[in-house]
Amino acid sequence: MALKTPDQYRESLRDGRRVYILGEKVEDVTKHPILRVSVETVAQDFVLTESKDPHIRDLFVAKDNETGEPISRFFKTPTTVEDLEKRSEMIAQSIRITGGLPFGKDVGTDCLNAVMVVADQMGNEEYKERARNYLRHIKKNDLAMCGAVTDAKGDRGKPPSRQKHPDYYLHVVDKQKDGIVVKGCKLHITSAPVANEIIVTPTRQMREDEADYALSFAIPANAKGITMICRPGRGEKTPYEFPSGAPVRALSEAMIVFDNVFVPWERVFMCGEWQFSMLLAYTFASFHRFTAISYKIPIVELMAGCGIAMAEANGLEKAGHIRGKLAELAAYVETLKALTRAAAKDPIMYGEIAVPNPLIANMAKLHFARNYHSFIQLIQDIAGGIITTVPTYKDWNNPDIHGYMDHYLGGSEKFTTEERLRLIQQAHRMVASAEHGHMEVTTVHAEGSMEAQKMMILFEAPLAEYAKMAKRMAGIEA
Ligand SMILES: Cc1cc2nc3c(=O)[nH]c(=O)nc-3n(C[C@H](O)[C@H](O)[C@H](O)COP(=O)(O)OP(=O)(O)OC[C@H]3O[C@@H](n4cnc5c(N)ncnc54)[C@H](O)[C@@H]3O)c2cc1C
Repeated sequence: MALKTPDQYRESLRDGRRVYILGEKVEDVTKHPILRVSVETVAQDFVLTESKDPHIRDLFVAKDNETGEPISRFFKTPTTVEDLEKRSEMIAQSIRITGGLPFGKDVGTDCLNAVMVVADQMGNEEYKERARNYLRHIKKNDLAMCGAVTDAKGDRGKPPSRQKHPDYYLHVVDKQKDGIVVKGCKLHITSAPVANEIIVTPTRQMREDEADYALSFAIPANAKGITMICRPGRGEKTPYEFPSGAPVRALSEAMIVFDNVFVPWERVFMCGEWQFSMLLAYTFASFHRFTAISYKIPIVELMAGCGIAMAEANGLEKAGHIRGKLAELAAYVETLKALTRAAAKDPIMYGEIAVPNPLIANMAKLHFARNYHSFIQLIQDIAGGIITTVPTYKDWNNPDIHGYMDHYLGGSEKFTTEERLRLIQQAHRMVASAEHGHMEVTTVHAEGSMEAQKMMILFEAPLAEYAKMAKRMAGIEA
């Protein structure tokens, strides 16, 4: 079985995993009112891979090089520009088609691709073989994976070895004949409560006295000693929202506690090689920022669409200052798209593996994050205050007040009042809701904070060349 059905995926989550949300233990994540939204969001990935539409199938399903079997394209290790372009397109299209982020395999494969690059750079044949075998295992069983990179970190001003206690960063506490025992906590891990597998890589460079923290491995989500404590998320649509036919798509993040978890050696990809921890963190970041910019594209397209449609519903699409704002919305979205395409077109080759261009991927992520709040301000400005004060669908349905709403909340004559209210609700969700507060912070921090992107840009950009030109023009010997 190289491709699971959505039902097989749902069934695979009934595995005794230890998950908590809102202070309570969850017996079955597929039945929980909030977590089942994450389950159904990730299940869409399995809906897409069983599609009979040849265009969808071509994008989401690839042929396994070794077995010739159909596999999820996420499991195709990129070796060419075309592989990167298709991966990016698949991620963007998955959101456009399903309305959400069916991310059961993106961060996990970003980690695994980076593990493969680093095992090769180490020249460690055993790690290379273990990574290949692990890839075979997840391909064959079509497993949903999360990527656990970010540690709890404690005092940010201190490295792992100088913290108040040793567990702020995940580390090895025992090495045994058959495997290792690890302890620590990874934070904010997207889709963890609905993943089959957790793949772990270091969040930062480790020094010689931090070899126990230079650690990478993979473990089933239901392994003994693993506990997940989840962010609540918004859950299903409420009766206060206009029904739209589009189900809620969302993913819960979790803090994952590793309480003396045993990991067999065949699933360990780094254990003590502190000299390579930076390369692993860096290569993961290049893969993952590329995934990030790919999935941000359809989201900002939809947000810009809310601004444009609200301008029309308010009868202002031809007003001079609104046209200027629409141009700014388009420039923000199209710059992101152009940089994402460029990152795929110009990869760095590590052996056979194509790593998205780190300079361009980081520039794209920085462009997205640094300008996001201004982009949102434009949409809020165009749409008007109604996107945060609007009464609810239940008010609309109350005959005592329906007439007032219908009479006073209309806009352009090209739209009925109900159509305008539906657009207002969509704009509310995208740029004015509690959910959007989560999105704003996600923009700043998920896939690394802006300083992380600047560090990689400083490392990759030819700054010395720029300075040399200036010095030469100034008549200073370089
Ligand atoms: C919605 C969401 C989903 C996420 N999903 C995942 C996931 O699936 N997997 C995963 O591994 N991670 C995930 N993350 C984590 C994300 O990568 C981190 O949030 C990000 O790297 C920032 O780390 P932090 O949250 O610990 O913030 P902090 O590290 O506390 O950063 C706060 C500020 O402090 C600065 N700072 C931190 N350390 C230092 C220092 N030593 N010196 C100077 N300044 C410093 C930072 O630049 C930043 O400005 C997710 C985050 C969010 C919000």
